[in-house]
Amino acid sequence: MRDKKSDRVAKKVKINGIVQGVGFRPFIFQLAAGNRLCGKIENTADGVSIFVEGAPENIESFCRTIPVKKPPIAQITHMFISDEPVRGYSTFSIQSSKGHQELKSTLISPDISICNDCLSELFDPANRRFHYPFINCTNCGPRYTIIDHIPYDRPYTAMKHFQMCPECQEEYDDPLDRRFHAQPNACFRCGPMVSLHTDKGEKIEAENPIQKTIELLKAGKIIAIKGLGGFHLAVDAENNNAIARLRRKKYREEKPLALMAHDIEKIKEFAELDAEEEKVLLSPARPIVIVKKRPRSSIAKLVAPENQYLGVMLPYTPLHYLLLSHHFSALVMTSGNKSEEPISISNQDAFQKLGAMADFFLIHNRDIYLRSDDSIVRVANQTTLQVRRSRGYVPVPIFLGSRTEEVLACGAELKNTICLTRGNQAFLSQHIGDMENPSTEAFFLKTITHMQQILDIHPSVIAHDLHPDYLSTVYAAAQKNKQKIGVQHHHAHIVSCMAENKIEEPVIGLAFDGTGYGTDGAIWGGEVLLADPGKFDRIAHLSYIPMPGSTAAIREPWRMGISYLLDSFGETFREFNLPMFQVIEDSKINTIARMVSNRINAPMTSSLGRLFDGIAAIIGLRYRVSFEGQAAMEMEMTADQSIEEIYEYSWLEGSPFQIDIKPIVQGVVRDVINHISQPAICGKFHNTLIHLFTELSGVIREKNGLNRIALSGGVFQNQILFKGFSRSLAGKGFEVLRHS
Ligand SMILES: [Zn+2]
Ligand SMILES: [Zn+2]
Repeated sequence: MRDKKSDRVAKKVKINGIVQGVGFRPFIFQLAAGNRLCGKIENTADGVSIFVEGAPENIESFCRTIPVKKPPIAQITHMFISDEPVRGYSTFSIQSSKGHQELKSTLISPDISICNDCLSELFDPANRRFHYPFINCTNCGPRYTIIDHIPYDRPYTAMKHFQMCPECQEEYDDPLDRRFHAQPNACFRCGPMVSLHTDKGEKIEAENPIQKTIELLKAGKIIAIKGLGGFHLAVDAENNNAIARLRRKKYREEKPLALMAHDIEKIKEFAELDAEEEKVLLSPARPIVIVKKRPRSSIAKLVAPENQYLGVMLPYTPLHYLLLSHHFSALVMTSGNKSEEPISISNQDAFQKLGAMADFFLIHNRDIYLRSDDSIVRVANQTTLQVRRSRGYVPVPIFLGSRTEEVLACGAELKNTICLTRGNQAFLSQHIGDMENPSTEAFFLKTITHMQQILDIHPSVIAHDLHPDYLSTVYAAAQKNKQKIGVQHHHAHIVSCMAENKIEEPVIGLAFDGTGYGTDGAIWGGEVLLADPGKFDRIAHLSYIPMPGSTAAIREPWRMGISYLLDSFGETFREFNLPMFQVIEDSKINTIARMVSNRINAPMTSSLGRLFDGIAAIIGLRYRVSFEGQAAMEMEMTADQSIEEIYEYSWLEGSPFQIDIKPIVQGVVRDVINHISQPAICGKFHNTLIHLFTELSGVIREKNGLNRIALSGGVFQNQILFKGFSRSLAGKGFEVLRHS
């Protein structure tokens, strides 16, 4: 007989990643038991450390199984296995967390949608948490939004106000239970509760506030609902009148409203989904996915007027499931904020700010420590494109190719996010918003402090935008004893794309967006750069054009239309019979033309976003917008993608190359006069950009030998361009780097 004892070997397995607070230790405990292994597991500064001993084949199977069967929300970044002397353990145990200091650099999980186990319990009448709106376990529930401090332990979360009842405590203490160390663990007896309130904040006595809310929604009321990362304003998505009221109260005329539907089948009744979109909708992050709308459905027109797409998501909290099951095709779930301000997270703030918009409030008493908007993504070419990276993704870091100092990057002005780095990790914040009002600035400051605290990062370097007046730049300038580095906006775009792809060698960068402050003080946005992480050369850009009224030209694309017409035709543009001239008064056109000619309040721009605006106005598609990028989005949706023609284009070689816009504008005007349809013109315009920049990239490659090309900037949310550029550049042999 073989001596069993002498066959024993021992290994140490160190695992880094998101492995704390996600059910990892109970998983390992059970896996070790299943493989008849002894030893221990403990949390460490950057993950977990496991010591196992037993038969070699069992240890091998144990190690092989970990990455395959890990808990759904755990993320393993590194796994190191090393030999150890046998110590003679007779059991496997979970060691309790050590002191504060040791657990600092571990990764914090994002907020995760309710898991299937909890969902079955939620609707199981025999379960003690039947219909409990805050059911959760180690595989699901709130994380990032309820953490105040590290380590991730109940006393440092919003759950500190709730003392667990004996039954919950027993689950929490049992390594074999799904709720072992689930910090938000709770039940009807001991946990958070919902309550219904009037628009003035007075509590309404209701036996079942959720049922009452469903009735109110059915009756067309607007309800402010406290969620995971902030408040939503909800109405029945089939009720056009209710949506009209919501739009009026929110001063939101056209911007599409997000929908939440109970399940994939429900979504398919009003939207077309492909397999990849379904997968992303069902992922634990549960983002809003922008999908193609069905032409006819029961969803009210006003949800997304004049728009072929809808933003949809699945429920992600137990409360959402209770509201939606069996009751609605979908609910409009738009962020609970005054327009342009951050969403409300505290009950008091919500009563104050949303009282004028909501008829009722469905609130709860679990605090949200850090606001996190719903994330928004698009799916193209099997790639998930982040339009707004927030809840469900933050604070998972981007892993960099090499280690860096601790840096705080302050972001730009519009759609601000901040970033902190540590080692080879870059932590992007959730969406902060447009930094143009005091409450967004306050959120910006709070996010910097909070993220530094929970990530234990104390940067000595601050990176900021070059624009001297941006609030984020002003903040950076005011910080004492820090090294400050000004970064050009489009350089930052290209390097962020390189970082995501772990590339540090120079690339050609196509940076296309609406606005970024250039080194010459002009507003850039149609840029071809030669970039590496430390520096860049501006190789080419769209030729400069005045932007009459500065930011007013963003809201009123017709102003850009006039500017391009003047540039291409001089004063003779007035002789053309363009649809714009039927709509915009002559006197206004004269004023704008004067501003352009005399360069009064008309900064120069090379922005591709503005070119889209100008063309949209010239063809009569859109003269005014209610959000930036709206005109470009409508051109994308209008474009006939079967068109293969292009407009003429040219550029002037030099340093940098100037891309002449005139032939394109002249071609568009000719088509409008010849009654060529809008879809055809939009199709040709998209094709032109793809041809132009692909050819130009080829010329640049000839000169400098670079074959890698990075695509970045808001314009690439346009799927025709994203797919078109990916295909055409790859077709010319380029290695194309994209954001993922
Ligand atoms: Zn769960
Ligand atoms: Zn309990």
